[in-house]
Amino acid sequence: MKIGKYNIRVIEMTNFALDGGAMFGVIPKPLWERTYTKADERNRINMTTRLMVLESDDKKILIDTGIGNKINDKFADIYGIDKSKSSVELALNSYGINPDEITDVILTHLHFDHVGGATKIENGELIPTFKNAEYYVQEEQYKWAMNPTFKDRASFIADNYVPLLNNQRLNLIQGEGTLFDGIDVLPIDGHTKGMQMVKIYDDVNKLLYITDLCPTSAHILAPYFMGYDNFPLTVLEEKEKYLPLAYKDDWTIFFEHDAYTQAAKIEPAKKGFQIKERLTIE
Ligand SMILES: [Zn+2]
Repeated sequence: MKIGKYNIRVIEMTNFALDGGAMFGVIPKPLWERTYTKADERNRINMTTRLMVLESDDKKILIDTGIGNKINDKFADIYGIDKSKSSVELALNSYGINPDEITDVILTHLHFDHVGGATKIENGELIPTFKNAEYYVQEEQYKWAMNPTFKDRASFIADNYVPLLNNQRLNLIQGEGTLFDGIDVLPIDGHTKGMQMVKIYDDVNKLLYITDLCPTSAHILAPYFMGYDNFPLTVLEEKEKYLPLAYKDDWTIFFEHDAYTQAAKIEPAKKGFQIKERLTIE
């Protein structure tokens, strides 16, 4: 798929598993099992980490970095992570993309499943994984990550992002705007303060990297939000703001964590919106 000057590549990385109840908030289990997938024997649901690279003549922009491989075996077991597939460098290489050619990394937020690959350990030292890249995150999210509440404290691991700032590679951006030609960032606060969605667009096509506003296609439905969300009613307002836009203007919505659906178009439903068509971008 091509939008504007960008060739859009989808990078599939390791699956992982989170508690189904925590992923679907107030929705009863029999319902979410029908809408998304059956839980495993530990009540976890199968999810994935899916990234995007936007290639143009002069840039290779990566959105999010997955879980990375700084994790230990206990962590990998709790979250059902396949460590052979959690390294973003190996994943990019397998798609024929040289990690050293990444020019920019847009971080939607700093939870470990989005920013784990942003740093690595080399000769016992924590360094940015992408040696030639600038990184971008909302300043408000960085502040939140440095002083999180008990609610999402477990998702923030300072080794994933503090080295970026210490190496002068992290650009703290403020609010909504055009980051690059045809690429806007749209900050929202319901999941965690200062998370940013990414919109890639030209005159014809629009694609929304919706990050954890809707981690799976099931979360398009109005009452589906996560126990992990810090401000659930804000999530509701944000869905009520962006999903009608996505429908009206025919945006493709890209899902970072849905193990079964890469992307989709949506349509109005009785309450809110629902999936109209499931799409595979790459
Ligand atoms: Zn998150």
